[in-house]
Amino acid sequence: QGKRAGGRGLRVFEPDMDAAAHARLRMENDLRDAIAAGAIEVHYQPRVDSRDGSIAGAEALARWTHPQSGPVPPSTFIALAEDTGLIDDLGALVLRKACAQLAQWNAAGLRLPQVSVNVSGHQLRSRRLAETVRRAIEAAGIAPALLELEITETALVQDREAAEHQLGRVRSLGTTVAIDDFGTGYSSLAYLAALPFDTLKIDRSFVIGIGDGHTPMSAIVRATIGLARELGKHVVAEGVETMDDVRHLARWGCVTIQGYVYHRPMSAAALTGLLQARTSND
Ligand code: C2E
Ligand code: MG
Ligand code: MG
Ligand code: MG
Repeated sequence: QGKRAGGRGLRVFEPDMDAAAHARLRMENDLRDAIAAGAIEVHYQPRVDSRDGSIAGAEALARWTHPQSGPVPPSTFIALAEDTGLIDDLGALVLRKACAQLAQWNAAGLRLPQVSVNVSGHQLRSRRLAETVRRAIEAAGIAPALLELEITETALVQDREAAEHQLGRVRSLGTTVAIDDFGTGYSSLAYLAALPFDTLKIDRSFVIGIGDGHTPMSAIVRATIGLARELGKHVVAEGVETMDDVRHLARWGCVTIQGYVYHRPMSAAALTGLLQARTSND
């Protein structure tokens, strides 16, 4: 295995490394270079209000195109970034880009109520999160409420104290907080009630099981929507691919939809086009 060497955590090749370890090390170094060069792109997937089709917000999603291998799936490079500690810098970069993009849309008179940015458990534990968020907001000159942070339920469960503390600080800036991939992280209901957050995102794995609306999974989705509403939280369903699911979710009280049924993640330029078309129709 490569050892950490040097001040910036750069790892170097060692003769006894096998091919897989070598390839991984090269990816790690390429990812580090990409982050340092700001060469991580941010795509945006709109959240749609199913009652009128209006755009309620968008999620910022990191994209990395490797110079030789081409596009790398986020599941691969985010996991690599988490394992190697690069996620703090990657997360801060995405945050800065999303805030700067929001400022641009604002200046152009394009209305987008909110952009949400994913935050990893590693960032939550590094205790610099609120400061990083404050800086990104200030540099862009945007209203803090335009930004939402998404944190997976799994990350929240891993370190409860850090989570509560950091989320409280972020929210005191005026930025809202969403629990991502809800239903996959085994948090207790008592913990959920105590946690400072604004939005609950129902994970795609539950949405997939809705079927005809009478499946066991439907009961869970319905109960989750009811729970969110009783707690006074917004609720978003993610990974929605069919209009049948949209209709079931609306009937159960979830009208904010993020999924291929409306839009796939798109470049900032593509979302600009979409927002322009919407604005000129008003
Ligand atoms: P996530 O935060 O739960 O984001 C939603 C994922 O679901 C995105 O995958 C999105 O493209 C996908 N998706 C949305 N609608 C549909 C649908 O209708 N059908 C299907 N099959 N998929 C849908 P993506 O972009 O590949 O990102 C995967 C994960 O990588 C994200 O899951 C998030 O956990 C992580 N990620 C992406 N960007 C960042 C980032 O900047 N920071 C951190 N920490 N994690 C990130
Ligand atoms: Mg997310
Ligand atoms: Mg999610
Ligand atoms: Mg996910």
